[in-house]
Amino acid sequence: MTDRQYQYIGGDWAEGKSSDEIVVRDPATPDDPAVSFPGASQQQARDAVAAAAAASEEWNRSTPEERDAVLYELADLIEANQDSLAETLTTEEGKPISSSRGEVGRAAEIFRFFASYSRTATGDTVPSSDPETFTYTVRQPLGVVALITPWNFPIATPSWKLATALSTGNAVIFKPSSETPMIAKHLVELLEEAGLPDGVVNLVTGSGSTVGDEITTHDAVNGVSFTGSTETGQYISETVASRGIPMQAEMGGKNPLVVLPDADIGAAADAAIAGAFGGTGQACTATSRLIVHEDVAAELTDAVVERAEALSIGPGMEDPDMGPAVSAEELETNFDYIEIAKQEGATLLTGGGRPEGMETGYYVEPTVFADVESEMRIAQEEVFGPVLGILEFSEFDEGIDIANDVAFGLSSAIHTEDMAAARKFTREIEAGVVKINGTTTGSQIQMPFGGMKASSTETHKEMGQHAYDFYTHEKVVYRSDP
Ligand code: NAP
Repeated sequence: MTDRQYQYIGGDWAEGKSSDEIVVRDPATPDDPAVSFPGASQQQARDAVAAAAAASEEWNRSTPEERDAVLYELADLIEANQDSLAETLTTEEGKPISSSRGEVGRAAEIFRFFASYSRTATGDTVPSSDPETFTYTVRQPLGVVALITPWNFPIATPSWKLATALSTGNAVIFKPSSETPMIAKHLVELLEEAGLPDGVVNLVTGSGSTVGDEITTHDAVNGVSFTGSTETGQYISETVASRGIPMQAEMGGKNPLVVLPDADIGAAADAAIAGAFGGTGQACTATSRLIVHEDVAAELTDAVVERAEALSIGPGMEDPDMGPAVSAEELETNFDYIEIAKQEGATLLTGGGRPEGMETGYYVEPTVFADVESEMRIAQEEVFGPVLGILEFSEFDEGIDIANDVAFGLSSAIHTEDMAAARKFTREIEAGVVKINGTTTGSQIQMPFGGMKASSTETHKEMGQHAYDFYTHEKVVYRSDP
């Protein structure tokens, strides 16, 4: 019998008790479900919060050695299980197996990097105005935090939240996407094997609409870290705001790549292709708008179309350039936006349909539109698929205005040899990430990550040296010895 125990509460695995059946499909062969199990009930979500609250005091007070021992052990276990984790990831998310292996390897690196936080997430000693008073700050864990994650980087995103929360001494309720529960379960099994005390991490696998409010509005939850769509993130932020607890949300994007006439056109085309079609365009930082100076628009457009048409498409396990979309809903959304773009007057240059002979998986061709205008929906709304729109400008200021003319502000890139132009772009672009001669996608663990505008609550960055800010209270202490 297949394993249907996807809830991990207080150190025990259990079946979900709601009437929702979570059905996980391999996007390359969706006809036969990969796994199916009942989702968590609202009561189980409350039980998970209670288990975290019960375990939190001891974990809050654990020593740095105790915490980093678990996280270093977990990193080793992730590496030892890299193949099976990668296969699970590709099975439920669809991405090419080499990308899955890379993401799993990154998860191990993330746990190692943040394990060191156990010993280094310090306060400051501050010069005192009074020689008899010692002034310093201390950082303490929030207590219990809820972590809610999407499906597109289903081991990396939970890893950077879990690693930061645990290393700073917090207990956790982890709610993964219903599209990718298998990799979440596997990760939590490894945490258990690494020696994490019971109740410190609790896995609640159920639909957001059933369990979401239970874990975000519960009095015992002291902080919520969310990654996902802007719509869900804004809803949760509003719910959590009324409780006055820390909330962090990293959300959608509509990321521009701006190309100036002096740019290396081949490199810009490579960056556009990697950013638009890597991960089937399903990255929050995906390039969805290629904003190009009119003098080089024709040359760059030809280079992009030629590269897009050369991409291989297929099941993730065959390691193509591009796998399927994650689900039937995402596939349908892609085709809906392709139709909308045509109706709005954009010119379809390549793609736009299913690849020939690939009728069963959730496949869509890499799609490029020219003659896109900034007010079109294809230039404003997040498609979250392999659809790239090309927009043209004649003056640099106009190019920056177009890049900023969206609600989102996550990632951005500029291609130019003119570093004064790059500085101007860095200053004026409304985006949390700026890449100069790079892709809009990709990030380094030791660099902070987060967006602006509708892409983020802008409360605290994730990753990087100060990601612990979100997971800790900072107290200021004035000590006058008797
Ligand atoms: P989503 O639909 O917003 O779901 C994200 C998570 O929220 C899932 O675990 C979902 O659970 C849960 N959820 C849904 N409703 C909820 C509620 N009422 N209360 C609590 N949780 C709830 O996003 P997605 O489709 O998984 O991911 C794609 C989106 O994520 C894109 O917009 C992308 O840009 C964004 N993203 C942003 C970043 C970033 O760092 N900025 C990174 C990756 C992805 P269910 O699966 O059960 O519905």
